[in-house]
Amino acid sequence: MNLNTDSNHKERVDGVGIYIHIPFCKQACFYCDFHFSTSLKKKDELIDALIVELELRKSEFENDTVATIYFGGGTPSLLSLEEIETILKAVYDNYSVIENPEITLEANPDDLSETKILELAKSNINRLSIGVQSFFEADLKLMNRAHNATEAKHCLELATQYFDNISVDLIYGIPGATHEQWQENIQTVLDFNIPHISSYALTVEPKTALATLIKKGKIEDVDEVHAEAQFHMLINQLKEAGFIHYELSNFSKPGYFSINNSAYWKGKKYIGIGPSAHSFSGESRSWNISNNSKYIQAIQLKTLPSEIEILSVNDKYNEYVMTGLRTIWGVSLETIVAVFGSDFKTYILAQADKYLNEELLYIEDNNLKVTTKGKFLSDGIASQLFKI
Ligand code: SF4
Repeated sequence: MNLNTDSNHKERVDGVGIYIHIPFCKQACFYCDFHFSTSLKKKDELIDALIVELELRKSEFENDTVATIYFGGGTPSLLSLEEIETILKAVYDNYSVIENPEITLEANPDDLSETKILELAKSNINRLSIGVQSFFEADLKLMNRAHNATEAKHCLELATQYFDNISVDLIYGIPGATHEQWQENIQTVLDFNIPHISSYALTVEPKTALATLIKKGKIEDVDEVHAEAQFHMLINQLKEAGFIHYELSNFSKPGYFSINNSAYWKGKKYIGIGPSAHSFSGESRSWNISNNSKYIQAIQLKTLPSEIEILSVNDKYNEYVMTGLRTIWGVSLETIVAVFGSDFKTYILAQADKYLNEELLYIEDNNLKVTTKGKFLSDGIASQLFKI
């Protein structure tokens, strides 16, 4: 059943979100700079701490209803069904949750055996986000993914039998991967009839194994021109297949937009539970310490190991512009006036003028949006519209 089109769709869009970070992975992907540990020694203590954090923070949502719950990581599919349900129970015990929330679990192909998928299908999880990245062995080895190409295909075969709402992650711009291989990757996902795709360029983050391997000449550097070409292939191929390009890195069949992520992009409130998780209250951002032991110790003392930043008017405007330009909804000039004042509208239009002339931006129904030509540059363009 596609829950996005249920009668509770509005409730799901209006509610708030809970993100739960599971900071464990089987092995470190070379490009990854997320917070995770490859040692599972502290898994039980960490799960206990997640539950305590959920209890400690319930007052933050005392007047709100939770519409989406998202298990991210790290690798949440490393958890057993019992562990997932224990955490979910703590959410339901401490928060008001709508009847049919979107509950997403990020999963890696090597964890998705038929038994596991069957278990998950019987749980409250109703959306899987699967980190496939590529169906080519050479790509998976280059990135040090824990699964192989056969597992990637096999898990989609199984997952599609039990889940309707599935998203697949793909990475483009991988050194050595040809355009033909990239198109084949996209086509393989389409052949499985997957309704949602998230796709990112391979980026070389500082201090990652990938950065070191490129520096030592062991792996060819990423090529932005190659990546941009593949991004445009992705847009075209998915448009032809009936997908809506609703956020810079996200494509969906009608009715399958990620409600959780759409809420982030629309500036809705969410709390992030677990080490390194970020929260947004509408007025401030906060983030938990990125260290499993210190996180557990602090929570055991019933303190929140987090830092907070109160957002200025300019910060809020900048965030709205950055996220708005990445989405199909664009930046609403009406919202700019209503929330920030008419000076901000004058400012954004003056800053946008150059990009409007270059056809990188356009205005439709009083919303400022990026053109297809401007899409790969949208973060750079947004930064030129910021107020410092
Ligand atoms: S599985 Fe995900 S979180 Fe873990 S190392 Fe790989 S990319 Fe990072």
